[in-house]
Amino acid sequence: MKSVPLYHVWEYTDVDREFWREHLENWLPQRIFDAHTHFCEPKYRLAPITEQQRRDYWVNEVNDPIGAADAQRCYETVFPGRDFSCLAFGMPTLDYDLEACNTDLQKQCEKRGWYSLAVIGPQWSAESIATLLGQPGMLGVKVYYSMIGQEGTVRSKHLEADIFDFLPHHQLEVLNELRGWVMLHVPKADRLGHPANIAQIKEIRKRYPNVVLVIAHLGRCYTIEHAKEALPQLADDQGLYFDNSAVLNPEVHRFALETLGANRILYGTDNPVFYMRGRRQWQGKTYTNRTSYPFYFNKDREPPEVEATYTLYMYEALYALKQACENLGLTRQDVEAIFNDNARRLIDSPA
Ligand SMILES: [Zn+2]
Repeated sequence: MKSVPLYHVWEYTDVDREFWREHLENWLPQRIFDAHTHFCEPKYRLAPITEQQRRDYWVNEVNDPIGAADAQRCYETVFPGRDFSCLAFGMPTLDYDLEACNTDLQKQCEKRGWYSLAVIGPQWSAESIATLLGQPGMLGVKVYYSMIGQEGTVRSKHLEADIFDFLPHHQLEVLNELRGWVMLHVPKADRLGHPANIAQIKEIRKRYPNVVLVIAHLGRCYTIEHAKEALPQLADDQGLYFDNSAVLNPEVHRFALETLGANRILYGTDNPVFYMRGRRQWQGKTYTNRTSYPFYFNKDREPPEVEATYTLYMYEALYALKQACENLGLTRQDVEAIFNDNARRLIDSPA
């Protein structure tokens, strides 16, 4: 069959169709809820991305904005025949008109029966957050350390910030009152296991128990070493949630499921970035992204016959999760919880 355009430089090919048939079609539940996906109409970008930005950070090269209609088309392509819903948010960077993105995203999601989070910066007032959360289907906020201030060319300027630097208490208070969601991408090069992250997450849970706190990307634990030092420290808190987006490592999925249980993990993709083709390899606490497009960052390519077998990163992530679920002997009910029921339960529980 013909390849069809997916997103950015990526297409959906026969390799992907075959991967879907062989590994995913009979395993994935009928209902899929993607709890971590980004969309924003490209027109809301304030200035075009520069060549320098593309060279500086690999995600800049693969992170073109995707609008809601395109996102829907892509999901229908990668999840053929499935009932799909999602929790979407814009691009957490000051390079976009965030108010316009948030307003448009809420409308686009409401129209489709999907849900949204507002991207906010630490300066935003409690009143503005209350107004946002008054919109249908807008469940809470997406916060991120780069929202502290303009990054310039240095992406990591605010990486070592504390959580409360970009999620201040006046915001947590109103989110607690309204039972808002917080999608938290943890700061620091040491990732979730950094003592300040662990302490501040525990503090949020204690002082703001009504906030639906979701730790994105399993706390950025993409390697088993990071997962082992961090996740057990938060295992006891049954009211703390995680999404497993951007995690391609089967060992990490397995360890997270063993440590946290299937009822606290929400399936997520982190699309559109994960329409990228390729595979990830791990060495200790680092990893290498292999991909088949000649990006600046992609200097160390695999042989063409290996690249020809690449599928989408999001399919690799699903396959890793499948291996973990099968190794642990999870029930169908557990698998459905991860892919849909946990998110639905949190959305449906009364404010
Ligand atoms: Zn994300």
